[in-house]
Amino acid sequence: MKPFSGLIRVSMATLASGNYHCPASTAMKARLLEPVVPPPRKPDRLEDFALGPFMAALDQADFPFLEVRRGRPMHDGLRAWTEHALTMYRRAFPAGAESGLEPVYAPWTRTVELRDPDHRSARRYEITAWGRRLASPDNRIRELRLPVYRISRLKNSAERSVAALVAATGSPGPLPEHVRVLQFGLLDGQVEPLFSGSPQDAQMLFDEHGRSGLEKAVDNNDYRPGSACVTCKYTAACPALPRAPGLLGITDRTQPRRTWSPSNGRAYRACPARDHLRRLNLPKDHRIDHSASADRGRAIHHFLADRHRVPAAPSCDPAVPEQWNAVDFVLPENERLLGARLLRQHAAVCPLLHARTGSAKVEPTLTFHDENADVFVITTPDLLYLDGDSWVWREVKTRSRDCRRTVDLLEDNPQLSLAILLLARGELGGSRTRSRVELEILHPDGVDLEILDPFTMSVQVTARQVLEDHLREWHADRDYAPRPGIECGRCEVARWCSAASTSGAET
Ligand code: SF4
Ligand code: SF4
Repeated sequence: MKPFSGLIRVSMATLASGNYHCPASTAMKARLLEPVVPPPRKPDRLEDFALGPFMAALDQADFPFLEVRRGRPMHDGLRAWTEHALTMYRRAFPAGAESGLEPVYAPWTRTVELRDPDHRSARRYEITAWGRRLASPDNRIRELRLPVYRISRLKNSAERSVAALVAATGSPGPLPEHVRVLQFGLLDGQVEPLFSGSPQDAQMLFDEHGRSGLEKAVDNNDYRPGSACVTCKYTAACPALPRAPGLLGITDRTQPRRTWSPSNGRAYRACPARDHLRRLNLPKDHRIDHSASADRGRAIHHFLADRHRVPAAPSCDPAVPEQWNAVDFVLPENERLLGARLLRQHAAVCPLLHARTGSAKVEPTLTFHDENADVFVITTPDLLYLDGDSWVWREVKTRSRDCRRTVDLLEDNPQLSLAILLLARGELGGSRTRSRVELEILHPDGVDLEILDPFTMSVQVTARQVLEDHLREWHADRDYAPRPGIECGRCEVARWCSAASTSGAET
């Protein structure tokens, strides 16, 4: 790593948490650390920041003196989303009715200069906030508008306080007497006020809610391999990133650095555009994404995960409470009853019957960098556990009707195929003696437990073939063209797809 310059730059994004963030990477980024060997620059051909074109279009409209910026081409779906977002924004904030406010071009930055380096060796701190900036002509009022997909996801207190502080005390420009921060939902055009007050109020809010959160984030050195790795500058020197060269069977580092998961594989196979639009995180159709059967499946996984997560939990018994589904999963009566019936079958094959006490890892995120393909493979087994010294990979599936056995379990199942190859390569460690992949299939009249041996050559060959079928075309693809067909009716991003109208998808 190159030497630290003494500047620490943070923003609302520094406070982000959850599986999509790596605290160590965020902290190094805040310190503006530069690796000696930077990662290769291989951007995707298409724009991959879903809010980028929206912000660029508003910049162009608000600041006509700017040169027209030629960004990366947009996928049709992103173009549709951007047009929708602009319409919603203009509906929420009609031109000429800006409450006397004018757009502000220069980003606001709150800066703190130190006379001597502090305990982090920092001499200067900068805090920024990303959004649309406006001010009254006399500069007495400032407003910061934060774009989000849906208004239902409100910023937390720490994020609000950072936004308010930057709007209240950020340079350049005369400081205001009054500040407003609001959040606007690009999907529905709703506006939600987050803060309104004086610079003193903003400072107090920051002191109470923002400061400690930012300090913790800057000092956090917890590595969390996952989606964040794909844009991380520090991969070459990362001590926590597992490498698995050759895992995917593709040798081609010329394509953009990307992530891949079995669910990407399934989505891409159904339709390349669908996978791309899901990766952009465009808002999904709630009716499809949360159909009763999909939510019942999620609720069952959630129930089992909660039971297995209890430290030193005994194996599950068949008693399932009537109201078994957690409050997050509101199910129709028939799905709730079916779910209870399926869950009762689980006890006979509960993995904790064989697991070494305390060894169960519930829904762990596994990430491997296949350097030969320059792809970060991310997968989440339902459960990993040790049988003796051997890792066992358990997946659970549910069926609402009696089980019909599949001729070949691996066929069309990239999750199981990936599990086979990871265990066969010894990527999880442990002894190979009892290492296996288990597929538990719950159905109304019973349960099947299918066992796959990762060390049987024919199983490995099939697994490799299945992965190749799911990966090879995607790996070379730079366009993600729509493939209209029967899947359109089940497509959660059909709303943004111009091809959907010719394919009978609901919009
Ligand atoms: S490579 Fe991944 S785990 Fe390592 S610092 Fe970067 S984001 Fe974190
Ligand atoms: S609507 Fe059809 S063509 Fe469009 S992304 Fe979805 S599956 Fe693909």
